[in-house]
Parts: sequence; C-alpha cells; structure tokens
Amino acid sequence: MKSKNKKTRKSSSKVLENNVVNSFLKVKKDVIKMEAELSALKQNYQRLYKLFELNILNNKEPKVVVKTKNVSTTKKVKLVASKNGKKVHSDNCPFAKNIKKQITFKSKYDALKQGYGLCACLK
Ligand SMILES: [Zn+2]
Repeated sequence: MKSKNKKTRKSSSKVLENNVVNSFLKVKKDVIKMEAELSALKQNYQRLYKLFELNILNNKEPKVVVKTKNVSTTKKVKLVASKNGKKVHSDNCPFAKNIKKQITFKSKYDALKQGYGLCACLK
C-alpha cells in the first residue's frame, strides 16, 4: 500500500513536469511567432522609411540643381520656419521674411521629421 502511494505521487509529479514543459514549449512557440511578426513589421517599416527618404531626396534634387546652378554645387537654400508655424520656407520666400522667430533646418528631411510641411516655395 505504501509503495503504491509513492508510485502515484511520483507519476503525478511527472504529469506536472510534463505540463510545465508543455507550457514552456507553448510560450516558446508564441515568442518565436511574435519575433517573426515583429521582424516582418520591422522590414516593412524599413522599406517604407527608405521609400520615404528616397522620395524626399528625389523631390529635393531637381530644385536644388536649378536654384544653385550658378552658385557651384553646394546647396545654399536655407530652410527656415516659424517656431510656432507649420511650414518650412526657403529663406528668400516672402513668407520667410515675415517670420520673427526663425528656426532653421539642415534639410527638408529634418523639417519633415519634426512635423513641418513644405511651403510652395520649396516644391
Ligand atoms: Zn515659402
């Protein structure tokens, strides 16, 4: 009787062990699935980000070439915006001259990243 009892206890702890192992395997599977989904999302994001960047570069290039044709190859278009405004201008835009608290950007990309839109003078 005593030995039988021991046996049952032993097998029930084995069941428990199996349960624990199974739950771990399940969690592991979920984690792997999540990781796969996350990396897919990441890839998607990177692809979009590249497209976005490319798009901005493509938009920028023709303008810069035309404007700086006689000023050598370095781009001289200064990008300015009002501190409380929503649009970025080139510094020779009439709107830009009315801005009292000007802030400047290194690139259109920087401005867009900070939530500004482009004025017609930059398009
Ligand atoms: Zn403008």
